[in-house]
Amino acid sequence: MGAPFRIVIVGGGTAGWMCAAACASKLDPKRYDVRLIESEEIGTVGVGEATLPQMKDFNDFLGVDEAEFMVATQATFKLGIEFVDWGRIGSRYIHPFGQYGRTIGEAEFFHYWLRARATAGPLSDYCLPIVAAEANRFDFPAKDSADPKSAFSYAYHLDASLYARYLRRWSEARGMTRVEGKIVNVSQHPESGDIASVTLASGEEVHGDLFVDCSGFRGLLIEQTLETGIEDWSHWLPCDRAMAVPCARTDGPLTPYTRSTAREAGWQWRIPLQHRTGNGYVYASHLLSDDEAASLLLSRLDGEAQADPRGLRFKACKRRKAWNRNVIAMGLAGGFLEPLESTSIYLVQMSVAFLLTLLPDSAEIDPALPREYNRVMDVEYDRIRDFLILHYRATERDDAEIWRYCRAMAIPDSLADKIERFRHRGHIREYRDGLFGPPSWQAVFVGQGVEPVAHDAMAGLMPDDILDRRMRELRAQVAAAAASMPPHAEAVRKYCPAGAVA
Ligand SMILES: Cc1cc2nc3c(=O)[nH]c(=O)nc-3n(C[C@H](O)[C@H](O)[C@H](O)COP(=O)(O)OP(=O)(O)OC[C@H]3O[C@@H](n4cnc5c(N)ncnc54)[C@H](O)[C@@H]3O)c2cc1C
Repeated sequence: MGAPFRIVIVGGGTAGWMCAAACASKLDPKRYDVRLIESEEIGTVGVGEATLPQMKDFNDFLGVDEAEFMVATQATFKLGIEFVDWGRIGSRYIHPFGQYGRTIGEAEFFHYWLRARATAGPLSDYCLPIVAAEANRFDFPAKDSADPKSAFSYAYHLDASLYARYLRRWSEARGMTRVEGKIVNVSQHPESGDIASVTLASGEEVHGDLFVDCSGFRGLLIEQTLETGIEDWSHWLPCDRAMAVPCARTDGPLTPYTRSTAREAGWQWRIPLQHRTGNGYVYASHLLSDDEAASLLLSRLDGEAQADPRGLRFKACKRRKAWNRNVIAMGLAGGFLEPLESTSIYLVQMSVAFLLTLLPDSAEIDPALPREYNRVMDVEYDRIRDFLILHYRATERDDAEIWRYCRAMAIPDSLADKIERFRHRGHIREYRDGLFGPPSWQAVFVGQGVEPVAHDAMAGLMPDDILDRRMRELRAQVAAAAASMPPHAEAVRKYCPAGAVA
């Protein structure tokens, strides 16, 4: 066997340590020499507290113990995201991590609901994670697919800094080499232009065959060195700043969902953890000053602020090539989509998964590998982008400049097609890869008042009395399943009580 293939991970935020943890648990150290460089002086972005159900798959893939991980990160359970005032002021809906209804005939359940909706009540009544979330209840999904309690999944709210710390301990215990130091110089091969090595402030040089750029917004290798460029999406997603502040937990119920409230120049998040509640205001800087955003945020907390608001700047974008030469950009170095649907950590997870699938093992990287990697990452980014834009576009609000702009703006053709199909007959074109299946789109469409003119023709075949009975049975089943769940706070207390942070 020749010399091991050298992988250098630059950056020790969530992205860097997720990549390192996967390498530490899956790669043969005789074939792959992996090290991670991070600088305590620079630090991490330190936000990113709401996740998607796929995170559980990632932790399971690593072999992480769920309760131990939840204790270490002060995590709570998450059944979906509540959107307040998005369609219009006073409206609210939950985007759930689960299905609406069950199969009751030839057509998808959603179409039977469309047909019966005059008498069948809201769509949300047929979705267990929504009914449970509204009652602040949580239980693990049943494993038996015939059980009504099986039709959902769950995610976590967690302290992102504690997660990176947890993964660092986990990776180092499995042999990952961590190099502390600030990179002050990057050397390229004179002929190929590939990155050859990075130099730390101490003078130490670290050579590699493949570099994973997890250096955050600065994109130390992918942008500052290789000048890869971005696809700028800020004309569709105009928010470019955030103010973030934690506040004390109140005595109210521990909600098993993230809340996103549309505001005068963007939206505000609320993320309940065990030890505190995370809050932030994502806004468009040409419509609101940083001071105004900070003071509005502070005036809308449900507990006492635990720090001064912290400002972050960004642009909605995707790197033109996530894999360029011998550099793969992950996390904030790869692009940024605002945290409206908690997708950034998911994107890191997919970057890591595709890297492991397409991992080269020789310094001569086959060009087919980056080509495929960039194709699949583009699909991931583009699908999330369209879904986020839908939230802004599908609004009736005209009380503020941001909503007037967004409801009239031109949108990507791919999203326009999706909206048209839905309006026509409630259909959502499914895709094989990428995030957000039909229930997610249905949640936002219905929640924000986009109405189909007709349902799937197959749903018209069921006699009225049978349809009516099945709808009533399903609704009762969902209500009973939710009522049988314990309060979320009790589920957390029993399974993963974290105590105070050290
Ligand atoms: C306002 C906001 C809210 C968010 N909310 C969510 C959310 O709810 N859910 C979600 O999934 N995601 C969210 N995210 C995204 C999430 O925070 C990031 O995707 C995630 O933390 C990954 O960050 P990172 O590791 O790419 O970068 P960072 O955390 O910035 O880490 C960069 C690393 O690179 C190192 N580094 C940089 N330069 C050098 C150098 N010269 N030498 C050595 N080391 C260097 C730093 O020391 C650090 O370790 C949010 C992001 C923002 C901005």
